[in-house]
Amino acid sequence: AKEFGIVDALSALGLKENNNGSSTGIENFATGNTIESYSPVDGSLIGKVKSTSREDYEKVMEKATNAFKIWRKMPAPQRGEIVRQFGNKLRELKEPLGKLVSFEMGKSYQEGLGEVQEMIDICDFAVGLSRQLHGLTMHSERPGHRMYEQYHSLGVVGIISAFNFPVAVWAWNTALAWVCGDVCIWKPSEKTPLCGIACQNIAAAVFKENNLPEGISCLINGDYQVGEFMTQDKRVPLVSATGSIRMGKIVAQAVAARLGKSLLELGGNNAIIVTPDADIKMTVIGAVFGAVGTAGQRCTSTRRLIIHESIYDTVKDALVSAYQQLRIGNPLDQNNHVGPLIDTHAVTLYKKALQRVVEEGGNLIVEGGVLEGKGYESGCYVKPAIAEANNDYEIVQHETFAPVLYLLKYSGDVENAIEMQNGVVQGLSSAIMTNNLREAEKFLSVAGSDCGIANVNIGTSGAEIGGAFGGEKETGGGRESGSDAWKIYMRRQTNTINYTTELPLAQGIKFDL
Ligand code: NAD
Repeated sequence: AKEFGIVDALSALGLKENNNGSSTGIENFATGNTIESYSPVDGSLIGKVKSTSREDYEKVMEKATNAFKIWRKMPAPQRGEIVRQFGNKLRELKEPLGKLVSFEMGKSYQEGLGEVQEMIDICDFAVGLSRQLHGLTMHSERPGHRMYEQYHSLGVVGIISAFNFPVAVWAWNTALAWVCGDVCIWKPSEKTPLCGIACQNIAAAVFKENNLPEGISCLINGDYQVGEFMTQDKRVPLVSATGSIRMGKIVAQAVAARLGKSLLELGGNNAIIVTPDADIKMTVIGAVFGAVGTAGQRCTSTRRLIIHESIYDTVKDALVSAYQQLRIGNPLDQNNHVGPLIDTHAVTLYKKALQRVVEEGGNLIVEGGVLEGKGYESGCYVKPAIAEANNDYEIVQHETFAPVLYLLKYSGDVENAIEMQNGVVQGLSSAIMTNNLREAEKFLSVAGSDCGIANVNIGTSGAEIGGAFGGEKETGGGRESGSDAWKIYMRRQTNTINYTTELPLAQGIKFDL
């Protein structure tokens, strides 16, 4: 840890090595069980965090609801100014925060920096948005009437996030929610609690410097039971939850039972279609980055390659030779391409997937395996694997959060490939590699990809914050980040004003007294 400057990074972020972090960011509020955070990089204990008890949660909720009454009255552009300052703090702390992300989660340092950059980008977006939270004006059918709509702040937004983007997902939600006038309570993944505390420290400092209540940004820590405090709490009008489909199904039902709103960002099973007109070099780079980047632990990771039979062997050989070049090891060492999985449980699931694909008739053309020995002491490093498979294998239908890529062959027209691409329950990201305009347009048409994200000549992973991000079907249907994704963080109100001395009714209804 020392070699890569982790100790310095922790102290720059207000965390001491092996500290007892305050899990709410509000002193002495956390009284629950202790969560230990171990790094998948070298297996070391980075820190201990107290989880949030029911009583702690009530105190946090009180702070948040009180803060909302103040925050919602501040003009949106002024809230944008606070978010601008928060973005600037992130610029100052980009390196230490990127390093902590890399060390606690295991993604490469470059990707850790990229994640912080995403936070900065969404802050910039939110600052501009703070002057554009506009509704429409409609013409009333009644004389002397004016009709328009406005967007008001919603209240306390609950954010539940996954381990694989331990800081960016929070920022996607919170930067927009803040300019919309909401206050946020965040429960980060129990696998990356220190990233949560580091972010909370940064936000808390900005609110404090501006004499604003600390409850605008709240942190609660713990496992699913702490998440349930929010999903079952009618004081939380919106729960934004990112994670597995299994989690999403439970959260959706809990929130729906009290008729709350949920924004779900769940698992993917993303494919790239490779047609006879594809640029093979670009395809290989895009597919390899998509499949092994973040050790296959992105919701948008490439899981399936659907390759036309005429170029199947060419693509397969190019992939096998690219996989031979991959260097696996410490993600803070910039010479390595692939870092560890999040924990040894993820390693077990990876091994099971490889076993299962063979049992179902698949053929491993790049064999995987768990790495041992010097540098691999954490037990979390695995070799990226490639298997030839069929789309209807049970394991291919399932998202395995690890670097396992399935090669699927199609013949005939691109429609056959699109049918395979859509033939899974998930609907997050998709891509086609082709220089053929007809194929590309078919893929993007209403009869094409059924995913929330559909790319041409780009891989499946690596979205920009300007677009709305999310997926269809069991991916949950939610949209975050750019475009008009902000609307879910607000409540819409239609206002009609009568400036006459008459009271005409809509639809011409007569009612006289
Ligand atoms: P996970 O479902 O195990 O946990 C995610 C979060 O949900 C954690 O904070 C967890 O404590 C909480 N949680 C779990 N059960 C809950 C419950 N019943 N009530 C309330 N909270 C609960 O997921 P993970 O392993 O951390 O992350 C990997 C998954 O996340 C993958 O499926 C990946 O595709 C998905 N993901 C999706 C997106 C997206 O934008 N679509 C982004 C990142 C990750």
